Amino acid sequence: MTRMLSEFDLIKQYFQRARPAGPQTVLGIGDDCALLAPSPGKLLAVSSDMLVEDRHFFAGADPFRLGHKSLAVNLSDLAAMGAAPLGFTLALALPKADRDWLDGFSRGLFALADRHGCELVGGDTTKGPLNICITIFGELAPGQALRRDAARAGDDIWISGTLGDARLALAACLDEVELDPDAHALAAQRLHAPTPRVALGRLLAEGRLAHAALDISDGLVGDLGHILAASRVGATLDVDALPAGPVLARQAPDLRRRFAAAGGDDYELCFTAPAAHRDAILAAGERSGTAVTRVGRIEAEAGLRLVDRDGAPLALQLHGWDHFSTT
Ligand code: ADP
Ligand code: MG
Repeated sequence: MTRMLSEFDLIKQYFQRARPAGPQTVLGIGDDCALLAPSPGKLLAVSSDMLVEDRHFFAGADPFRLGHKSLAVNLSDLAAMGAAPLGFTLALALPKADRDWLDGFSRGLFALADRHGCELVGGDTTKGPLNICITIFGELAPGQALRRDAARAGDDIWISGTLGDARLALAACLDEVELDPDAHALAAQRLHAPTPRVALGRLLAEGRLAHAALDISDGLVGDLGHILAASRVGATLDVDALPAGPVLARQAPDLRRRFAAAGGDDYELCFTAPAAHRDAILAAGERSGTAVTRVGRIEAEAGLRLVDRDGAPLALQLHGWDHFSTT
């Protein structure tokens, strides 16, 4: 019989790594606090995201993918601010100390962490219903943050990567649509393993190319609404210009439009920028290996106007995610 894992064994075996901390971490796991060293003169960017079983993922979800996604959604928040990752903490409630689960989860988590030079510096571990909460720390120069309240009338609206495949995979899991197994697997990759656009966000912030940005977690239309409200502006969005994911692109036009415009779980960046920066933004997309697509325009007139490729108004039945108004 294998020995039961104590809380401290668990932290030591799966989360405390025997390697020197990076230059940004003066002290990592093991003391009362971690000590981080942001670069002199930089602002600290801080964000938390929680993943709850049966709310954000299905019970029995693959632990490697969960480890990846838990950190990916936090890195995505840093990307949306234009911040460079420094480190993160992990608060974990676990029903039991399951070695296979911990092994998969920590491998998924560290694989992504190492790709971004973002060290796990501390956390908390307790018994309870599966709940994963990460707090991430990043840094950026004052004046470089891509804030939601900074969009200006006349700005272009841009989207990174592609939209809607994550929502399509969810719809297939829920038997709302039918996908062949290969298509389902491809779309599911977007649902379970989102790619945080950290490099693009950094380039947009450092080059002062964009005014406002956010990451699309609850669907583009709803999330863009946050930028419009905070910046006191309106917008026209060309729904047919939205870059549909490769699987969604093969679906019927109505589904394609709805899932691209209001899918959820995309973790792409939506940002606004002056038209004079178009070439520089395309170059930043190229440099960061991230597609960027122009999809609309910020306007002084309040409200969001959805149009088709000919500029004709579109009435789409859309709703983003709101955890307290939907069941
Ligand atoms: P405290 O008693 O101060 O809450 P703990 O005994 O919970 O400290 O944790 C001991 C050390 O292990 C601390 O440095 C803490 O940050 C770290 N730690 C606890 N849980 C985790 C976790 N899930 N991931 C990373 N570090 C953790
Ligand atoms: Mg503790």
